[in-house]
Amino acid sequence: MNTVSDYLKNGVIDIAPLLSLVLGKSNTELYAQNDYALDNNQQQQLSNFIQQREQGVPFAYLSGKKGFYHLDFKVTKDTLIPRPETELLIDIILDLLNKNQKYQVLDLGTGSGVIAVTLADINPRWKVSATDFSQAALNVAKINATTNINFTQGSWFDAVTDQTFDLIVSNPPYIEEDDVYLKDLTYEPRTALVSGEDGLDDIRIIINNAPKYLNKGGYLLLEHGYNQQQQITKLLNKAFHNIKTFKDYNGNDRAVLAQIK
Ligand code: GLN
Repeated sequence: MNTVSDYLKNGVIDIAPLLSLVLGKSNTELYAQNDYALDNNQQQQLSNFIQQREQGVPFAYLSGKKGFYHLDFKVTKDTLIPRPETELLIDIILDLLNKNQKYQVLDLGTGSGVIAVTLADINPRWKVSATDFSQAALNVAKINATTNINFTQGSWFDAVTDQTFDLIVSNPPYIEEDDVYLKDLTYEPRTALVSGEDGLDDIRIIINNAPKYLNKGGYLLLEHGYNQQQQITKLLNKAFHNIKTFKDYNGNDRAVLAQIK
């Protein structure tokens, strides 16, 4: 009772990806060689992983990686696991800016680095900077970088004083501090998820300070919660115009783009 096929029949959560992970086999290899018998070590490692998954540890923290856009990213417990919704920000930016021009782009609160690294990888002419409050997260982002990115540590704009940018992008924490959804996210860093009573504490800091750090005609692009678009548009109205709102691929309000007045 220890072949791949035996385990697959068990129907445990994520059993096929967990078997792939333990055996170092692709999904196709796994099914093609489903009479393979796991040795003792492999059985032990698999049962350890199954136990962790059953306790709610996200799969990405067991595999140590997560795909985002066209790249694979290292993730650790110091970083949020990249969400597919965040790929929307990349699409918006690629539609907005010209690949062949030289832009100064800033990713605030980069975490594992997905936004900055993806943009820099696709657009070698852009000068991309990325910040995070967490040095541990920045260390992961640096490993993920495929090209030169200027990483600096600090809270929001504290990390980039005296610099200005053509585009500032951020996927900041935006969950309300008593949101029931947080009970499903206990393994990810709370500081990357939660932002005060209405989830907007960090977004307010970013919107209020961004004008000082934007070049003439520069843009601010923010990811936000499904119910925050109206409030954010209101906050932007004072210093920004040409405000555009976007839904994610699930149909939820998810991003807002604005140009400095
Ligand atoms: N998108 C995250 C989630 O829904 C929330 C925090 C964030 O990405 N900034 O779990």
